[in-house]
Amino acid sequence: MSVQTGLQMSEQSLSRKQAHYRVLIVGGGTAGITVAARLKRRGIDKVAIIEPSEVHYYQPLWTLVGGGVVPVEQSARPERGYIPKGTEWIQDHAESFDPEKGLVCTRSGKTYGYDYLIVAPGLQLDWQKVSGLTETLGRNNVSSNYTYETAPKTWEFLNQFRGGVALFTMPSTPVKCGGAPQKIMYMAADLFRRKGIAKDTQILFYSGSNTLFGVPEVRKVLEKVVERYNIQVNLNYNLVAIDPIRRVATFEATANHPDVQANPDKPAPSVEVPYDFLHATPPQSAPDFIKQSPLTDGSALGWVAVDKHTLQHTRYPNIFSLGDVSNLPTSKTGAAIRKQAPVLVENLIALMRGQKLSQSYDGATACPIVTAYGKLIMAEFIYDSKWKPTIPLVKTDRERWDMYMLKRWGLPFMYWHLMLRGLA
Ligand SMILES: Cc1cc2nc3c(=O)[nH]c(=O)nc-3n(C[C@H](O)[C@H](O)[C@H](O)COP(=O)(O)OP(=O)(O)OC[C@H]3O[C@@H](n4cnc5c(N)ncnc54)[C@H](O)[C@@H]3O)c2cc1C
Repeated sequence: MSVQTGLQMSEQSLSRKQAHYRVLIVGGGTAGITVAARLKRRGIDKVAIIEPSEVHYYQPLWTLVGGGVVPVEQSARPERGYIPKGTEWIQDHAESFDPEKGLVCTRSGKTYGYDYLIVAPGLQLDWQKVSGLTETLGRNNVSSNYTYETAPKTWEFLNQFRGGVALFTMPSTPVKCGGAPQKIMYMAADLFRRKGIAKDTQILFYSGSNTLFGVPEVRKVLEKVVERYNIQVNLNYNLVAIDPIRRVATFEATANHPDVQANPDKPAPSVEVPYDFLHATPPQSAPDFIKQSPLTDGSALGWVAVDKHTLQHTRYPNIFSLGDVSNLPTSKTGAAIRKQAPVLVENLIALMRGQKLSQSYDGATACPIVTAYGKLIMAEFIYDSKWKPTIPLVKTDRERWDMYMLKRWGLPFMYWHLMLRGLA
């Protein structure tokens, strides 16, 4: 068998007749499929999606998987069932972009042309930025709800927990669903109470953020929840290392920590925290192939640079982006994508017709924060962390049973049957 070099492969692909699409979508997750479905409903054809995975995940369910409420299999369905009819599925990884020529190259060495490009490959979980984490994740009482494989481990370890220190972490980078690192902590706290082991347990929250939650209306309620469960909150700390043998986690103070601000020339102080159970939320950033592309905003985390209202790329007018990979300054959630997708599609169609881009995204996002088994705060907000509830007649700035039921039953139904079909 002969081994091809990258050069030979790209020469071959250039000599082949190159496929060209009216709209090419990179990523067939929440954002890519929602946009594809809406384009189909608006009668746009010659659309293709580059998506490597056979499986589509409804990630918001992983919180309830970690809490032992839902089997993980309920969060996964075949990708094929959600590619709109008539849309071509290119099962490959996008690898590089040439926006000047309107080309995307893939891992298998193929090149695709487009008139319009939508960039939606989600974000990257940077496990390796925490020393020792990759080696121990899913074992030794260390888990994370951030993957399909490890969310069930969270439940396994919590269910076996008999008291001691339960440690929950959140990095200083943006994360998918900013409330998710806390949701599992509150479920665990409720579980420990129900099992009668709360008095033998210390719950610690170490967060890289400088606040418990950015939206004041939500923060007020969460502060009471933290008090109720007697959780010790430590802000401005990033998890940097785990020693699974000693069961010790090391945290480093962030630039916002008062000690760092007072002594900016000294190395950031660090603390060692022993634990018996650890739920880790990894640092997150744009996928490396995006960071290295001309589409990035040039920041260290490398998000795609878009106008925060039109979702059009700031340098390439025929490129749009949405979802976790974009640099939209709002919380990265599926709920945000539900509001971004119609804006993007209408603006794209306006561009195709030579019209003004008239639709504007206001940063709308939602974070359903589970605070106990059967209790949830529906945090809805827009840019600048402004509280903006949308559910009529319901006071959502409090813990509610009906909102928990909405997360458990209503939102998964809405996702699979309406949102991914371009209907909601
Ligand atoms: C634990 C947890 C809890 C959450 N809770 C909530 C919640 O309660 N409410 C809420 O609204 N949101 C929640 N979210 C967030 C929500 O799931 C994400 O914001 C949303 O899925 C992001 O959609 P996306 O399309 O940008 O990325 P994804 O849905 O992650 O899709 C990205 C797609 O791109 C593909 N891809 C990757 N690399 C390439 C490549 N090189 N080429 C082509 N394709 C590629 C991937 O295979 C994937 O299919 C939660 C997430 C987690 C992990």
